[in-house]
Amino acid sequence: MIREKDKIEIYIDEGLCKGCDICIELCRPGVFVKSEKLNSRGYYVPVPASMNKCTGCMICELICPELAVIIKKNELVKEVV
Ligand code: SF4
Ligand code: SF4
Repeated sequence: MIREKDKIEIYIDEGLCKGCDICIELCRPGVFVKSEKLNSRGYYVPVPASMNKCTGCMICELICPELAVIIKKNELVKEVV
């Protein structure tokens, strides 16, 4: 079966992130994991390791206290399910 879904891109501004892990904890599909490298502020930033699980709910962007997460939804893409 082929269905259409939003093409979603996740951007994290590493320089803004303070490593609070809220986005990791509140992303229900578990898209993020903690990076193993420190950013310029000395924090471990999250990385979107399972992009295919992202539903585009925008929660991570809305709850990030540093406004470090940006979700971009582009044109619809076809996905085989
Ligand atoms: S919620 Fe924002 S500041 Fe906290 S870990 Fe995620 S990206 Fe970094
Ligand atoms: S948009 Fe929703 S599903 Fe996607 S990474 Fe953010 S919280 Fe997780």
